[in-house]
Amino acid sequence: MCGIVGYVGPKQATPILMEGLRRMEYRGYDSAGVAIINGDGVKVKKAAGKLSVLVEKLRTETPRGTVGIGHTRWATHGAPTTPNAHPHLDRSGKIAVIHNGIIENAPVIKKALQNRGHVFKSETDTEVLAHLIGAYYEGNLEQAVAAALWDVAGAYGIAVISADEPDVLVAARNGSPLLVGVGEGEYFVASDASAILEHTRSVVYLDDGEMVVLTRDGYRVRNLTETHVEKPVNQIEWDLATIERGGFAHFMLKEIFEQPESLHNTVRGHLLEEEGSARLRGLNLSDEDYKRINRVIITACGTSWHAGLIGEYIFEEMARVPCEVEYASEFRYRNPIVDENTLVIAVSQSGETADTLAAVREAKRRGARTIGLVNVVGSTIAREVQGGLYLRAGPEIGVASTKAFNSQVAALAMVALKMARLRSLSLLQGRQFIEALQALPAQIAKVLERAPEVEKLADRFAEAHNALYLGRGVNFPVALEGALKLKEISYIHAEGYPAAEMKHGPIALIDENMPVVFIAPRDAVYAKIVSNIEEVKARGGKVIAIVTEGDSEIGRLAEAVFTIPPTHDLLTPILASVPLQLFAYYVAVRRGCNVDQPRNLAKSVTVE
Ligand code: GLU
Repeated sequence: MCGIVGYVGPKQATPILMEGLRRMEYRGYDSAGVAIINGDGVKVKKAAGKLSVLVEKLRTETPRGTVGIGHTRWATHGAPTTPNAHPHLDRSGKIAVIHNGIIENAPVIKKALQNRGHVFKSETDTEVLAHLIGAYYEGNLEQAVAAALWDVAGAYGIAVISADEPDVLVAARNGSPLLVGVGEGEYFVASDASAILEHTRSVVYLDDGEMVVLTRDGYRVRNLTETHVEKPVNQIEWDLATIERGGFAHFMLKEIFEQPESLHNTVRGHLLEEEGSARLRGLNLSDEDYKRINRVIITACGTSWHAGLIGEYIFEEMARVPCEVEYASEFRYRNPIVDENTLVIAVSQSGETADTLAAVREAKRRGARTIGLVNVVGSTIAREVQGGLYLRAGPEIGVASTKAFNSQVAALAMVALKMARLRSLSLLQGRQFIEALQALPAQIAKVLERAPEVEKLADRFAEAHNALYLGRGVNFPVALEGALKLKEISYIHAEGYPAAEMKHGPIALIDENMPVVFIAPRDAVYAKIVSNIEEVKARGGKVIAIVTEGDSEIGRLAEAVFTIPPTHDLLTPILASVPLQLFAYYVAVRRGCNVDQPRNLAKSVTVE
């Protein structure tokens, strides 16, 4: 998920690779490394932490050579330590691999290789791939990489070099970005154009399933079956800042648009279609443990707390286990009632949120079982909980959380599914839930295609001073999250309420200047929410409604509607939150706000 850069040419590779890695630092990473072919083998230098640590290591000994690969890692398998940093070597020590993404079937391949005597030095899936390529190597790196890739499932962008073929670099992609930089007598690969932009603006974008073989004389693109695929050379017109954001105006927008992929990464490898259940080994809970749990407490802050509230509905509805959601800052200072049959779930994007961490410690002290749902591998919460699930949403840079939120909901849904299948949920219901989860990435992509509709809506409402967000059931927390997104980046005062609560207070605020956003999909409480819309309408409020495709009723009442595809009732929050994220984003842009770094806010709240 992080940065790849590779070089073949007449110049010294190390400085070019290091500069490329520096250009990709903005993406966030936890360790870095380079591998250079230098006459008598492959020299690998790597270090946990910032690039400056690697720079320091290279100061005493800079590998010399004109072919090499460099990587910044954002850990998905194994903590961000130096042994886990890339590049990884095969058994012979002659083949070096860097990799972005996740090799899903790494455990199976690892076992098979271990049976053949392979010994691994890291906890990564990447080292497994390096050994597999080495196992296939018979004097032709291109063939060995192709053979290995036939065996692997998952997402990858990789770059590979071998001491036995000192003039060749092989790279491949499937689900992780990769491009070839075409220079004068020199060639590059990179996961991000910013890494090579100062050398060339001519690039070839690889598609999924494609490989490239680079030498000093040129490059050849192929796929796993054909040895030659014709590809156009594109000229990059963007400036560096635009490239860093993948062509998007802000990181937040980029991250909103990454959700089909990030959500897919969160669930990939965890869903057991046959059994209608989930495989969540990292939680370290046995089936007996799941059955023994008689209470779930989800503790979190901010957006993660909203994800937790959605989780509450899913846990209670599907797993029939009592669930409470508590602000971590409250939990830690109360006298919470928990015991060994209470499952405390800490939810945090960064895994460093001070209050959530303190809540975990308090829960552990009192003998509860703790698990963490965090995005950043090796973070403090991830290390301190008894089990956990990584979100694998990729680095989130925009301060207002978007993709991590939906990944948190999906992760909670998977834990609830697992628990539900050991209790009350039928096989058929489990399968239906999985089917709905698997359909979400494509459905989100469909919603995102219609971002211009939301943009127009934002134009009409950008001048509002207040906004009310209303939803019922599992979509009540979506109302809270929609309101939070709007207030944190556009500074418009916004409140979220359960729709029926409106008449106990907030209805007093409604007049013709008040936009009221309803989350009103066709679910069990649809008729009720239509009545609430009527009530707002009767008082002149301006209704914006998120409705299910095919809804003809609400359109008559609302000022504007935005449709989302139908899904499992409990998963509508994931689809409904996307237009609300876009709405907040476009309103904030119209108002000239600093979207990625809103005033007074920090990405990782490590203070109380
Ligand atoms: N899955 C690999 C690891 O954990 C690659 C991570 C990345 O994309 O940076 O090492």
